[in-house]
Formats: sequence, structure tokens, C-alpha cells
Amino acid sequence: MPQDVTIHPLASPWGRFHLYSFFIDAPEPAIVDTGIASSPAEGMDAALQAIGRRIGDVRWILLTHGHIDHIGGAYALAEMTGGRAKVAIHEADAHLLRSREAHVQLYVDVRQQYLKDPDAVRHQRSTADRVISGEMEPLVLLQGGETLSLGGDVRVSVHHVAGHTAGSVAYMVDGQDAVFTGDAVQIHGAANHFPGYEDPDAYRASLEHLRDVLRPQRMYLGHPFRTTEGVAHGVELDADQAHAALQESLDIESRVRAAALRTLADGPQETDSAYSPFARAAVELGYEGDPTLEPSPFFTTMHGYRTMLSSAS
Ligand SMILES: [Zn+2]
Repeated sequence: MPQDVTIHPLASPWGRFHLYSFFIDAPEPAIVDTGIASSPAEGMDAALQAIGRRIGDVRWILLTHGHIDHIGGAYALAEMTGGRAKVAIHEADAHLLRSREAHVQLYVDVRQQYLKDPDAVRHQRSTADRVISGEMEPLVLLQGGETLSLGGDVRVSVHHVAGHTAGSVAYMVDGQDAVFTGDAVQIHGAANHFPGYEDPDAYRASLEHLRDVLRPQRMYLGHPFRTTEGVAHGVELDADQAHAALQESLDIESRVRAAALRTLADGPQETDSAYSPFARAAVELGYEGDPTLEPSPFFTTMHGYRTMLSSAS
């Protein structure tokens, strides 16, 4: 029986958030997710030194998905390893690593039509310039189903868990069933208190796959999500907490789906509400968060149900 590999959370500050990366202390050490441009130098380097490890020895950069707060530090981190770390991302999110402009386009394609802020595109572009450390081609393009060797007998399997984004993956340290889910498990969402996902059906199927097939003994989240009572979960969950978080995420998706479908039954309703054209769903769900606050998960998710309905008809 191989000995369990040790996993350390690494927190880096960003505005009102902490961004979480994880260090897998394998013969070929790995970091899961990279925060933003400043995170490798400001958060990770010191945290690794404190446990007697060196950032330059990292050999794998495993990205759970393409969002800015997960890939922003990838280029800088790869540079700190002298280019020796292999960067892995799912092929469906790889454009977000290759191009800053892809993040602006993501905003234009979905959120812009609801937020109507004339300055937003300029703001999105300046954020992408500032918090993404560089554009790069990933060395390992994932599809899900791969097993990566981190040296010795440490193996990490890759599971496609689309929904939050098309190219979201979970990484599982085989043999100890430790699973890194990035943002694929939203519960109530992070700072915005609303779960964010682009594709509701895929999000649901991924949660069921995690709950019923992968059954994590330890689950590592990209953000400290919240319980129904508003209490922040830590980012490291044991088996019972993981099961509860997956079940709660499924229950919340059911409620959001019901409200969204009732709201969309008569078509989206343009009003002067900040939640327009989905104000009825916000009222029904009792959602009182600021829907315009980045990354605006309310609109991303509602747009997901709207797209689902229009592609079914
Ligand atoms: Zn995300």
C-alpha cells in the first residue's frame, strides 16, 4: 500500500477574496491552480519555503479550468520553474490560457447583454492585462480520462466535470481519493452568494458523477463556498462534508432550475430591476446579492437556463 502523498493549501490574497492553490508533495511536485499574476511570487513562494519546498522544483501546473483567478498565475509560475513545469488544462478551456482577449469575449458573449455597463469591456480588458501573467500554449491538453504520473507511485486521474465552464476538470490523487474540484462544486457560490455555471445540465451531471462515482475521501475546493446558513466552508472537506456539499449543490441547482424555468416560461421580462430580465427568479429565490458584482454568477447561470431552453425548442 503506497503511502499517502501530502497536500498543502496555498492561499493568495486578491481584493475581497483569497485564492486557493494546492501543492501536491509528489516526487514531481504539482500545483493545482495558480491564482492571479501576483500569486506565485506573493503567496505561493513563501508558503512553500515555510514547508521546506521550493517553487522552482514544481514540475506540474494542473489547472481545473480557465477562469482568470485560476489561470492568471500560470505563466509566472512556469517561468519560476525555468519552464520545466508542464501546464495542463482541458482543451475546451485552453483558449482562456492562450489569450487574454478570450476573457473579454466571454464577458461580451454572456454578461454584457445583462449588465449594460458602457465601461465594462474596457474594464474587463484592463483586468485581463493586469491579472493574467502571460499568454501561453499548454503542454498537456486534457479531454478527461487521462492518468498523469507525478513520479514514484503517485498518479493523478483527470475527470471532465463540465458545467461551471465547458472545460472544468477534477483531478484525483488515485489510491487516496483526494479530489480537487476547482469551481465545479458551487454550493451557494463564493463571495456573490449565488452558484455560477454556464451549462445547468452538465453542472448537474458532474455533481452526480462526483457524488456517486468518484466519492471523494477528501475534497479540495477553489474557494471557501458557503452553507445554507451562510457559514463559509473551509477549502478542505472530509468525506462526509464532501458528500454534504455535493448533495447541497444538487439541491440548490434544483431550486434555481425551478425558479428559472418558471421565470422563462413567458420569456425573459425586461424591467428596471437590477436582476432584469430574471427579476422574478431572484424574488422567488430570495436572492438579494448585487447581481452586477464580478463575476456576476446570477447572470451567467440564468443565461445558462435560457440557452438550455432555446436549444431544446
Ligand atoms: Zn471559475
